[in-house]
Amino acid sequence: MDFMRILALDFFDPQFTMGTGATVICINPIHEHHENVPVRLEALKELVTGKTSGCLLITEPERGSDAVHMLTTCEEQEDGGFILNGIKIFNTNAPKAKWAVAYATAEKNNGNLMAQFLINTSWEGWNCERVGIPWVPKLYIGKENLINLKVPKEYILGPVGKGRDHLFEGLVPERISIAVRGISECWGALAHAIIYANMRKQFDKEILLFQGVGFTLTDLWARTTALTHGILKFCEVYDEKMEKHKNNLPDNVSRAMVALGSQYKYNCALLSKKVCYEAANLMGGAGLCDNTLMQDYLNISRIQEIIGGSRQIQNFIMSRNLRSLFKNL
Ligand SMILES: Cc1cc2nc3c(=O)[nH]c(=O)nc-3n(C[C@H](O)[C@H](O)[C@H](O)COP(=O)(O)OP(=O)(O)OC[C@H]3O[C@@H](n4cnc5c(N)ncnc54)[C@H](O)[C@@H]3O)c2cc1C
Repeated sequence: MDFMRILALDFFDPQFTMGTGATVICINPIHEHHENVPVRLEALKELVTGKTSGCLLITEPERGSDAVHMLTTCEEQEDGGFILNGIKIFNTNAPKAKWAVAYATAEKNNGNLMAQFLINTSWEGWNCERVGIPWVPKLYIGKENLINLKVPKEYILGPVGKGRDHLFEGLVPERISIAVRGISECWGALAHAIIYANMRKQFDKEILLFQGVGFTLTDLWARTTALTHGILKFCEVYDEKMEKHKNNLPDNVSRAMVALGSQYKYNCALLSKKVCYEAANLMGGAGLCDNTLMQDYLNISRIQEIIGGSRQIQNFIMSRNLRSLFKNL
């Protein structure tokens, strides 16, 4: 269902679709860990009904790919609440979001002591400025300086020691939704280029009929179709496993899902970068103008490779997986 939602939205506005993706990765941990606490249910309701947007705070200025060695700290108070201090950066929607899910640690650089919090961005201590990312000018991406930000205890989604598990639990669906966005961008760019190549004439013929154009398009189309089927199958299997194991995957299944999530994110981001560029290129000057979505597709396809773990980090995760497969032989 989410695949269809993303595909449909992406055809109208890829930047808006990316913004909704950031709200979804804020929703997922609240959905998993609300434990029927009224304030969490209230936040969840506002987010899923679209009343407000959400954001997720993992990345810090000094800790990007190395996300588990955080510097943002959380200090427990006598009333069971926590005080957060630290700086987060590149958080999609943050300047506009009402709700944030954030990670911090009881001891700097100690991934075992991470915790996960739900934050109302109107609280004192939340200081957010917009970061300009020219490839997605419509999006509001934030840098937050958390200064003595008090989080009451009913807003703790994961206590100290549970933060890292919660972070990894969210990464597979996050990567798959980035992969789905990549594939949706491929279809959007292809739709533009296929229509254009069927209409545009040069040398008295539709340019599609020249092999240089037609065969390039068929190559991109074939690759996009194949990955679309692959990722749809993955979504089906993931949903089945989550249902079968009541959202608590056994270790071996979870490891397989992590590897597959990385593989699809890696492949779809690479394909999106190639398809969006080549489709624009086949449209000649028209592919570079700002009166179609082509420039959005081109720009956003390059961002997919960075967010949710860069290309090299997906390789790193996959190589670790190969190692553990070998060790388990
Ligand atoms: C538009 C946009 C939106 C974003 N939205 C969010 C968000 O909503 N929430 C959030 O928390 N974060 C968000 N991010 C942050 C994003 O996840 C990070 O930018 C990303 O994880 C990379 O971190 P970094 O920028 O610090 O790069 P670095 O980690 O500094 O990486 C720099 C380069 O070094 C490479 N590298 C690093 N370590 C290794 C290694 N071990 N092996 C090989 N190569 C390595 C990387 O691949 C990269 O090429 C967003 C970023 C952008 C650009």
